[in-house]
Amino acid sequence: MEQSIIELQPRLTKHFAKLVDNKKLAHAYLFSGPRGTGKNKLAHWVAQAVFCKQKQNGYPCLKCNECRRIAQNNQPDVVEIKPEGNSIKVDQIRYLKAEFVKSGVESNRKLFIIQNAEKMTISAANSLLKFLEEPSGDVTAFLLTDSVNQILPTIISRCQLVELSSLTLKKLVATLETKGIGADKANLLAHLTNSQKEARELDGDEDFNKLLANVWEWFNQVLRNDWRAFVGVQTKLMPYATDKTSQDRLLQLIVLLTRDILLLKYGKNEDVAFIMYSKELNEKNLKIPENGAIRAVEAVLSTKQQRAVNVSFQSILEALTLNLCSWYQA
Ligand SMILES: [Zn+2]
Repeated sequence: MEQSIIELQPRLTKHFAKLVDNKKLAHAYLFSGPRGTGKNKLAHWVAQAVFCKQKQNGYPCLKCNECRRIAQNNQPDVVEIKPEGNSIKVDQIRYLKAEFVKSGVESNRKLFIIQNAEKMTISAANSLLKFLEEPSGDVTAFLLTDSVNQILPTIISRCQLVELSSLTLKKLVATLETKGIGADKANLLAHLTNSQKEARELDGDEDFNKLLANVWEWFNQVLRNDWRAFVGVQTKLMPYATDKTSQDRLLQLIVLLTRDILLLKYGKNEDVAFIMYSKELNEKNLKIPENGAIRAVEAVLSTKQQRAVNVSFQSILEALTLNLCSWYQA
């Protein structure tokens, strides 16, 4: 039988039941965690807790009309948004806003759930941000993602981040260490994949290790505003980014580096992916303006869209290099 969300996330269900009871739900939550940790179930369960007509000890009954309609996505005050094709488009967020401008269909309480929130286009995300900044009425948003690294920092800063089973990463690191992979490398690999098999393959992959060394050399030059970083795109990075898979991997590494800069800026040293370079990153970090650190992550994330419109990968990286160099200078 399928595990219930109370079994899967006992601490979080208890926590949210209390928040609902005390009418202390925030305007926006970001549920982050690997697939199978119950993000979607938890969001629906909280919605049930809000609307249930016969709660028991603060928990929704799951049997009444309201609870059943929410389970079937058939409750007009609980609106769900999913990617259409590969992305969540700005029109979908506009639709959501229009829905919320109307007062609640059956009450004044409204909840919305955004699946795969990392798939929002930049314009959709900006549109959502404006909405989150001026919440109208009694609204709570649940953004769900299994790739929190790909969520714009500006979104994260406006949501309460709830991590589901954050132990997964630590468990994977521990397992990799028992297979003879050093702690720092294991930590980086666990940020790149949830799969133990893939992590071990990457560890032994010569091209990947060379790319890793080259990316770091390139990023170090970017941080020093060294012109060789620009040339390095063609000579150091492109040879290892010959197909979509390797290009994705390269961008993933650059996302993690720019994200590490931001994490260190916020004092979240324990979440850094490149622990092996955290000393160097920290030294540079002191001089980087916060705004520049945020723009850097957003620029790397937005390369996805540039690739979709067929700009050459090398041109994208070169433009990115110039931008990063300028944003990272105080
Ligand atoms: Zn109920």
